[in-house]
Amino acid sequence: AKARGRNGYQFYAPSMSGEGVERLRLETMLRRAIEKNEIFLHYQPQVDIDSGRLVGVEALVRWQSPELGRVEPTRFIPVAEDTGFIGQLGQWVLAEACRQMVCWDTDGLRVPKMAVNLSVRQFDRGSIAPTVAAVLHGAGLAPARLQLEVTESVIMNTGDALEYINDLRAIGVGLAIDDFGTGYSSLAYLKQLPVQTLKIDRSFIKDISADAGADANAEAIAVAIIQLGKSLNLSVIAEGVESEEQAAFLLRHGCSHAQGYLYSRPVLPAEILARWGQGQDK
Ligand code: C2E
Ligand code: CA
Ligand code: CA
Ligand code: CA
Repeated sequence: AKARGRNGYQFYAPSMSGEGVERLRLETMLRRAIEKNEIFLHYQPQVDIDSGRLVGVEALVRWQSPELGRVEPTRFIPVAEDTGFIGQLGQWVLAEACRQMVCWDTDGLRVPKMAVNLSVRQFDRGSIAPTVAAVLHGAGLAPARLQLEVTESVIMNTGDALEYINDLRAIGVGLAIDDFGTGYSSLAYLKQLPVQTLKIDRSFIKDISADAGADANAEAIAVAIIQLGKSLNLSVIAEGVESEEQAAFLLRHGCSHAQGYLYSRPVLPAEILARWGQGQDK
């Protein structure tokens, strides 16, 4: 009762900014959202540009709140990170994504790989490899079919990150560096990491176009990342591909995998099955 009184006081304290109140409200609602079934996943296809084949999907968390409407992950993930709720949320996402893979298998759609985002804060309480292994085992999914996406900040910000990343690799899951090129990755460090995939950030893809005004810098960076990936023997995937010109550019420069609105927005599992399942050619 005491804690509650304090919260109430904080809530109405004049020193608390409107934004603070908003965050507190969001936090409270977010904590209940999982049990109220307001949280679910969308999946965005990752395709082989040349053949159009499905090479994987990325799980993207969604929150549909009766009170707030659709809340964007860019708004609630930071709140979950600040409050420590990201641990529970991240584990729910992982379990749900693994469960979905096995569901598709049963329905005759073998999605080669499931990509799941990890937040830097999920490494705060030590190695998460045992949890990930338990979730995979519980779902009955082979570790090699899971790819965890971490940003460069995960690697650079956490003291024992390299150890934790190695633990994850040791249980057999794949690792990708997300938003590659936007962080402060040291190339020497990159070589030591047990990652298999670089994901080129959308900011470098969006300015690739056939227009005369195309951003030569963005194009040069995209090409440099593709070449870097090749020389380190990593696979490279581009995110945020929206046009045929961008896809053609990537293919021409040796990047064969892409994800973006050109192929599909993030969608519900049934839509993935309808489009890529047995009897469909694309
Ligand atoms: P991200 O991991 O970089 O995910 C890609 C974001 O780009 C997604 O936004 C996706 O919907 C969007 N996107 C995909 N293709 C295109 C395109 O062609 N054009 C444009 N303009 N956008 C495209 P979304 O779903 O809003 O997610 C935003 C961010 O929230 C993600 O960025 C990721 O950092 C975070 N996030 C989402 N789900 C999770 C999760 O389960 N766990 C964690 N830790 N973070 C998540
Ligand atoms: Ca991602
Ligand atoms: Ca990304
Ligand atoms: Ca990005």
